[in-house]
Amino acid sequence: MAIRDSEGKVKEWFGTNTDIHDQKEAMEKMKESEALLKFALHAGEMGTWTLDLNSYEVMLSEESWNLFGLSSGENITIQKIDQELMHPEDSKRANLELEHAISTQSMYRSEYRIIRQNDKEQRWILSLGQGKVNDYGNVEIFSGVIIDITKRKNIEIQLAEKSAFLETVLEQMPMGAFFAEVPSGKILFTNQKFKELWEASVPKMIQQIEGHRHYQAFHPDGRPYEEQDWPLSRVMRKGEVIMGEEADFVFYDSIKKTFRFTASPIKNSQGVIIAGVILSEDVTESKKTARFLSEIQKNLEKEYQKIETVFSDSPAAMAILYGPNLVFEKINPMFQEIFPLHNFIGKNLIESIPELENYFYEYLLREVFTTGKTYYGKESLIRYYRKEIGKLEDAYFDFTFSRVADGEGNPYGIYIHAMDVTDRVVNRKRLEDLSQELQFSLSARDEFLSIASHELKTPLTSLKLQSEIFQRKMKKNDPKIYEPSVIKEMAEQTNKQVLRLTRLVDDMFDITRIRSGKLVIEKEEFDFCEMVKEALERMRANFVTSSYEFPELSHCDTVFGKWDKMRIEQVAINLFTNAIRYGKGNPIKIDVKDIGDSVRFSVSDQGIGIAKENQIKIFDRFERAVNASEVSGLGLGLYITKQIVLSHGGKIWVESEIGQGTTFFVELPKS
Ligand code: ADP
Repeated sequence: MAIRDSEGKVKEWFGTNTDIHDQKEAMEKMKESEALLKFALHAGEMGTWTLDLNSYEVMLSEESWNLFGLSSGENITIQKIDQELMHPEDSKRANLELEHAISTQSMYRSEYRIIRQNDKEQRWILSLGQGKVNDYGNVEIFSGVIIDITKRKNIEIQLAEKSAFLETVLEQMPMGAFFAEVPSGKILFTNQKFKELWEASVPKMIQQIEGHRHYQAFHPDGRPYEEQDWPLSRVMRKGEVIMGEEADFVFYDSIKKTFRFTASPIKNSQGVIIAGVILSEDVTESKKTARFLSEIQKNLEKEYQKIETVFSDSPAAMAILYGPNLVFEKINPMFQEIFPLHNFIGKNLIESIPELENYFYEYLLREVFTTGKTYYGKESLIRYYRKEIGKLEDAYFDFTFSRVADGEGNPYGIYIHAMDVTDRVVNRKRLEDLSQELQFSLSARDEFLSIASHELKTPLTSLKLQSEIFQRKMKKNDPKIYEPSVIKEMAEQTNKQVLRLTRLVDDMFDITRIRSGKLVIEKEEFDFCEMVKEALERMRANFVTSSYEFPELSHCDTVFGKWDKMRIEQVAINLFTNAIRYGKGNPIKIDVKDIGDSVRFSVSDQGIGIAKENQIKIFDRFERAVNASEVSGLGLGLYITKQIVLSHGGKIWVESEIGQGTTFFVELPKS
């Protein structure tokens, strides 16, 4: 054996002589075991090393050179390994470990990183070694093996990283978590939150938790938790999976908490339960909040119910419109009652009630929505289809449009509140009309009185004049007055004025009768044509004195029916009188026709005619189309005529052109 100096040079050779045979045998054996060792080392990818403590030279096997990425045969010292091969973070520790092994003559074991020289790759090396003690009890040679443990080390590091990550996750989790081993019940892990939640120091065994007595637990129905009820116990013993089970806890007899548990068994690849994990959450606050919320919800519902009742029973029409398009979201029954023919929900105002297109309501709604200013409408008139599509009706409303906000105070839509005040307005208008009419009839009465007195005065004055002249002539003994022609003339004049007076008085009586509803109709059966002929005959003098040709009956059907003969005669005479008065002396034509259920009677003249605008008016009381001074009359004749016709269920109308003439038509049902 070579003994070397500090530079590694051979200092002396050391050897012994023994029996050659034994030596040979020993050599053989050694060779054998050396070969075996070599094989083993090669197979295990291990390299050997030997450190001479005198020279600090290192001898490496082939595999070791390879492990370090060096080419074999190089001189290498421990310093070179320290400084050039080893990772700087590991070299100091590895050296200390070696020194310790040398000084205590113990086994050397170190794991360190090297930078492989050929490819500069970092590798993990496990180095094992043992010093050889010489006869003097000193260690001179240290030898051992090195193994590349990079793969294992990387896995270890990854695992450590993973478990650190898991631990961090578990620690940071907002839930209490712990794992317990099965079957021992040893607690493997608890996180900080667990300790906080449970006000407990870290228990070592599950039994400690089960046996804790500073709290009591109850099921939601109030039953206390038995030991075997504990979620983790059920998980570990029966393999149950527990999802969100809630339990009420009383800590130290007073503090109440509610926990929610989620727990699950952990099984190995053979399906055997090896651990149990439980997560617990303190849901006391959220439970309280939930309870509070449900309370609020209930109150809100009650309030809402009240509002609903007001909404549905209100005598006012109410509606909510929402969104920028202001479509109807909700209307109350009254709203629908006012607009029974329209549909509202999901449509805007004009889509719902197209009749309102030309009103300003849609514009108003938008104004209120953008400005937030409530609009008050008073007795606003709208015309819409209330009872029948196509038939517009007037209605009046007092209403408000006000903006409503959503929960966050943003504009949500419009609330419409409307009262139908149509009856009120109509009644008031009727009252106004009535008082106007009253006013009118008062002044009409005054006018009538003045006309009547004038009309009465005219024949009376002429009668008076006539009798005065007669008396004067009598005093003078004028024989002329006794001449038959003069007497006849006077009698005729007197008769004319008396007739006129009679007619006036009769008319006034009729008016009084009509007004007090006392126009009595007494029907009897007669031939209409015959009656007309008789009436004409009675009027003969009038036609003659007014220089008319006696009118011809151009067409006279025999029509029997039941009418009030005197009154119908009055109708005929009135129409004849008017024809004479306004007919400018032109021929007058009279017709009687049977038209089935009724008789149609017409009187045509070719006189002054009646302007269109007066053709309806003339049938009213005291209405005259011509100036009173032109032709005398009270304007009562046609009014009375119309009332007689109406009370027989008939009708009267006029067709006339101004300057061309006039035809009055009367139709009377036969019975
Ligand atoms: P009056 O006593 O004034 O004739 P009436 O009621 O008989 O009253 O007629 C009302 C008005 O109708 C008359 O004043 C006259 O202006 C108009 N009128 C009636 N009949 C005729 C007619 N045949 N032609 C033109 N105007 C007529």
